[in-house]
Amino acid sequence: MTKIPRSGHITAECRCAVPGCHRPTEKSGGTGLARFHCRYHVHHKSRHGSYWHSTYKASELRPYVRSAELWIEEYRQTPAYQAAYWQLEHLVAGAGRVEPATSLRGQSAEYRARVAFARLRAADIPTGRIIAIYMGVAALIEDDFGSHRTREFRIVQAAKAVHRLASGTHRKWDVWDPRTGGNRTAELHAYPRSSGHVLRKIGETLEKACDELSRAVVPEVITMRTERFGPHPSHTPVAKTS
Ligand SMILES: [Zn+2]
Repeated sequence: MTKIPRSGHITAECRCAVPGCHRPTEKSGGTGLARFHCRYHVHHKSRHGSYWHSTYKASELRPYVRSAELWIEEYRQTPAYQAAYWQLEHLVAGAGRVEPATSLRGQSAEYRARVAFARLRAADIPTGRIIAIYMGVAALIEDDFGSHRTREFRIVQAAKAVHRLASGTHRKWDVWDPRTGGNRTAELHAYPRSSGHVLRKIGETLEKACDELSRAVVPEVITMRTERFGPHPSHTPVAKTS
């Protein structure tokens, strides 16, 4: 009786599913629980929201966010925009009670996401700007032929772009110090990088408020981007060199 060799088949199954990646999956390599992806790409997804697509640069996002802002300038009185605006205001208002200088060690992802929104508030970032960023990210992902069009990539990319807004700001404010009973000055100079879980919580909150508006308006934002800044580079056929 001849046994059919199956080892080749098994080996193929244990490689990471990302094209071009030959690393063993986490499970087969004994480095984790992922059955279809390697440790490197699992980590990549946690950081960027996609196994293979990296985070967009601010320069790639800018024309879309600017177009979304122009849309908002023109249509800020529409019920769809007003609904998104007040919902986000409401969601962020709950974060206003979070002390931005609190140590985040040991805190849950929900708490850390609220702190991130409290920081946006402390940095006086207008709600309209946050909505424009969400819409801009959604439009870029839709317009870029090489993008990864998944919900997870969208919310993580939106969270990262919003998070970038408040990072790098330097602020001082007075806080009551229970040890002395008086005020002390808290200073904030840089924000730590948010973990994958926190980015998803931030992204979910943004999505809750902005997604309905975004779905309706993204085609218009893309049109405005194209008119004002030209098409996304992925639309231009690469010139053949012969
Ligand atoms: Zn891989």
